[in-house]
Amino acid sequence: MTTRIDASRLLPGDGDPVEDASIVMEGPTISWIGPTGDAPEADTTIETDTVMPGMWDSHAHFFGLSGADIELLATTAPQTAILRSLADLRATLDAGFTSVREVGGHGTYLSEAVEAGIVPGPWVYAAGAPLSQTAGHADLHGLPIDVVDGVFERHIGAPTIADGADDCRRLVRRQLRLGARVIKVCASGGVMSQVDHPKHQQFSDEELKAIVDEAARAERVVAAHCHGKAGIMAALRAGVKTIEHGSHLDVEAAKAMLDTGAILVPTRFVVQHLVERGRDIGMPDYAYKKITDIADRHLQAMQTAISYGVPIATGTDIFFPNTTGRNGEELGLLVDAGLSPLEAIKAATAMGPATLGPQAPEAGILIEGYDADVICVNGDPTTDISVLANPSNVTHVFQRGTLVKG
Ligand SMILES: [Zn+2]
Repeated sequence: MTTRIDASRLLPGDGDPVEDASIVMEGPTISWIGPTGDAPEADTTIETDTVMPGMWDSHAHFFGLSGADIELLATTAPQTAILRSLADLRATLDAGFTSVREVGGHGTYLSEAVEAGIVPGPWVYAAGAPLSQTAGHADLHGLPIDVVDGVFERHIGAPTIADGADDCRRLVRRQLRLGARVIKVCASGGVMSQVDHPKHQQFSDEELKAIVDEAARAERVVAAHCHGKAGIMAALRAGVKTIEHGSHLDVEAAKAMLDTGAILVPTRFVVQHLVERGRDIGMPDYAYKKITDIADRHLQAMQTAISYGVPIATGTDIFFPNTTGRNGEELGLLVDAGLSPLEAIKAATAMGPATLGPQAPEAGILIEGYDADVICVNGDPTTDISVLANPSNVTHVFQRGTLVKG
C-alpha cells in the first residue's frame, strides 16, 4: 500500500520549504521525496497546500484532571483519569501532533495502548512519575506526606519523592520499570505547588548527578523542570538534556545551554493560559499569584534564549481540561517571542525527537526511510503560523503511514 501526497510546498522539518514537491509513503516509512513532476505512481494520491512532519508536543501531561490543580489526583479514580485522557489523546492527534513527550502522568500506560492500536493517539514518550524532593514541586503539599507517594503509585505506577542520591537512583529505576523513555526531575520550585518557591534549586548537585547518571546508563536523558537560575545551572552541571520553562534564564544560563547542548522547552502556552484563564479553571490562589509573578520574566527568558540561539522545542505543559487540541498555539507564541515561523515549525518537528536523546525515533523530519508521521495542512504556516493553531486546517494525519485523520 503506497500513498502519495502532492503539495504546493513541502516543509521538511529542518530546512527550507520546497515548492511543488511530493512525498510517497510505503508501509510505515517514507519511501520517496522529490519534485511532483518526477513522483512515482501510488495506490492513493492526495493534493494539499502544505505537507510537513507530524508535530511534537515535547512537554505535556495526560493526568485526566477535572481542573487546574494537581492535588485533584488524590480524589480522582485512576480509571476516570485514564478515560478522560483518551479524549485528550484524540484531540492532540487531530491537532496534527503525532508525538508527545509526556513528562509526568499516565503516559506509560497510554503509550502501550496507542502502540498496540487499541486507542487512537499520538505516540507517547513518557516519564512516569516526575522526581521530586520532599517539599519539592511534585510533592502534594496540602496532603499528609505519608499518602503522597501512594497517590502517584495508584495513578502512575511509581512514587515521586526521593531524598538522597541513592533514593534518586532507586526512583529512576522505578520509572524505568514502568517503561519510561525519559526521566523528569523537578530541579526548582514550581507554580502549581504550594509551599516551595520557583527561584529555589531543588535536589542537591549530588542528587541531580545521580539521576542523570542512572538515566544515562539506560540510555535515557533527563528533562529538568526549572524556573530559578540556581536550578537551571545545577541541572546543566548535572548534564540534563532539556530545561523546562526556564523562567529566570539569563545570558549566562543561555551560554551554559549552548555549551552543554541542552534544549529549552519554554512552555509559553501554560503561562499565558493560566494568567488568562487560571481563575476560571480551578487554579488555587497560591498558584495564581505565582504565575502572575513569573509571567513577564518568563517571556524575557524566552527572548534571551532565542536571541542567543539556544535550541528550542515546542511544549505546551497542558495538564488541565478542555485545552488539548490547542497544542499548535505554542508555535505562534514562539514567533511572538522572536522565532521565525520556519524556526517555530522546526521546534515542533525536528526538535521533538532531539529532546529524547538516544530514545529518539527516526521521525520529525521528512527524509526517505524515516517514519511516515506526516500531516497535510490547508494554508501556508511559513507566512501565517496561526494556521497550525487551528485543528480544522490539519486535513490529514498519518502515523507510520496509517491514515488516522482525514
Ligand atoms: Zn509540566
